[in-house]
Amino acid sequence: MKYISTRGDRTERGFCDILLEGLAPDGGLYLPVAYPKVDDATLTRWRGLSYAELAFEVLSLYIDDIPADDLRRLVSKTYTAEVFGSEAIVPVRKLGESGLWIEALSNGPTLAFKDMAMQLLGNLFEYELGRRGEELNILGATSGDTGSAAEYAMRGKQGVRVFMLSPNGRMSPFQQAQMFSLQDANIHNIAVEGVFDDAQDIVKAVSNDLAFKRKYKIGTVNSINWARLLAQVVYYFAGYFQVTSKNTEQVSFTVPSGNFGNVCAGHVARMMGLPVKHLVVATNENDVLDEFFRTGSYRVRQGAETHETSSPSMDISKASNFERFVYDLLGRDGERTRHLFHTEISRAGAFTLTGAESGRIGSFGFQSGRSTHVDRLNTIRSTYERFGSLVDTHTADGVKVALERVEAGVPMIVLETALPAKFAETIREAVGVEPERPAGLGDIESLPKRFTVMQPDTDLVKAFVARHCD
Ligand SMILES: *Cc1c(COP(=O)(O)O)cnc(C)c1O
Repeated sequence: MKYISTRGDRTERGFCDILLEGLAPDGGLYLPVAYPKVDDATLTRWRGLSYAELAFEVLSLYIDDIPADDLRRLVSKTYTAEVFGSEAIVPVRKLGESGLWIEALSNGPTLAFKDMAMQLLGNLFEYELGRRGEELNILGATSGDTGSAAEYAMRGKQGVRVFMLSPNGRMSPFQQAQMFSLQDANIHNIAVEGVFDDAQDIVKAVSNDLAFKRKYKIGTVNSINWARLLAQVVYYFAGYFQVTSKNTEQVSFTVPSGNFGNVCAGHVARMMGLPVKHLVVATNENDVLDEFFRTGSYRVRQGAETHETSSPSMDISKASNFERFVYDLLGRDGERTRHLFHTEISRAGAFTLTGAESGRIGSFGFQSGRSTHVDRLNTIRSTYERFGSLVDTHTADGVKVALERVEAGVPMIVLETALPAKFAETIREAVGVEPERPAGLGDIESLPKRFTVMQPDTDLVKAFVARHCD
């Protein structure tokens, strides 16, 4: 399989060429030249597979520059019951007779769905860097989930160091403890005296210094990475097989969304032929995506318009993977995609599709809805009382929207993107109970911490990176 950019550069690159890269050189995102189609016989064969075997089957349709035996080994080392808590890896549970199912993507080391892809990325990076005899220094900024998932995926890996900036004192005590308690020599936590945007600005400034970037082999692991998206395609198949018994049945998915990475993987699975009726995008108060699916207008929010909510991992001002879907929606017209995402967004911070363009959205199965803090509290409470199931704040946004969209005869699978233990404060507010923590995490706040506090100064961060690379 070869990969091209969404902005018109049709140079074909292999999977391993784009594995360690972010944006395509023309500023677009990478997508496969075509989606491989999965027929009925293949679906039937895949039904009986373990998660790791299924992951190998899906990935090998997209990766032809890693020998099959190596890929099989990397995948089976990634998706184990030890790391993800059960043989099913992504077990489903039914919410009574509501028509809703919850698919748990959040039983990895950091209790959020980003582990599903990041754990694989860690093993792919180590493998590819080893093959090339190269090193990579991952520099990132986090307000919580992405940074910890990256650190738990890269800890102890050969050839990789992680430098993760976070706003000092602004993450929850649990999130801080998760990250700062890591003692691995290749993991560096930098707590910046400032807010998330200060940390993000430093990462951008360092990445814009091309000489520094090249000399110190700076890379990222953000959600636009194609390998992350691809790893996520697998659990749409795994969820489908768990709630259906034959391939003629359709299901829908509701996905708590921020950067559109998770639901974009659902779009890819559907394009491959998985019988998905609807892909329901659930947002919180940061509703740029819900607005798009209702109106056909995409309007990037300003900093001041971006709300801090109780589902913080969905607090986004723009959806960085969204361009991938729009490219497909526009019949893969790279010029038009470039015009909208480059010209229009730079000029006006927004674009509106033509009537003919937005008329096609329905045929891609997309629907949307939004949720607020009050909805979140009510949904956590009612899901607990009616079904005896405690869900986290992000998943609650999904359940709220899913209940509005569920149809008779079509199972609605809500993706559980984090465990309640990660967002204990809102859980207590909603139901007055303390969410249970998985074994081993009972008292992580009291573990010794390893981190460096720093003024928000790009030169200080560069000096720190340089010092730890020699
Ligand atoms: C990252 C994240 C999301 C949003 O996923 P996107 O791929 O950015 O749409 C939702 N919930 C949780 C818990 C997350 O960590």
